[in-house]
Amino acid sequence: MSASASDCLFCRIVAGEIPATIVHSDDRTVAFRDINPQAPTHVLVVPREHHPNAAALAAEAPELLVEVMRAGAAVAEREGVAASGYRLLFNTGADAGQTVFHAHLHVIGGERLGGMAQ
Ligand code: C5P
Repeated sequence: MSASASDCLFCRIVAGEIPATIVHSDDRTVAFRDINPQAPTHVLVVPREHHPNAAALAAEAPELLVEVMRAGAAVAEREGVAASGYRLLFNTGADAGQTVFHAHLHVIGGERLGGMAQ
């Protein structure tokens, strides 16, 4: 873990250096709309601290993983998808389709979701 990584896209979004549509922000997490949404609601929740993936986050800062999950649930409530159902998803590693190596929770909903992939 490091506080931030200068070459990390999501660290730069957290720092406000790259624009994003922020929907939630607190002292430990930031949530913003996915630039390429896969459903009517598609938000990414990231820890402010840099951890490369969800497994590292769980190992290095398990309480922060809980904060990310809690923020994801709050986003789902605010987006109006909590009652109908939504998906919380961490792609972890290249074979899973992880493309940004800063842990991020996908919050996906707003329609009937198929399959297991995002
Ligand atoms: O799980 P994965 O690493 O594939 O997810 C990365 C996500 O980050 C993608 O859904 C992509 O659309 C999103 N993204 C974004 N804003 C950027 C770059 C990527 O929302 N500037």
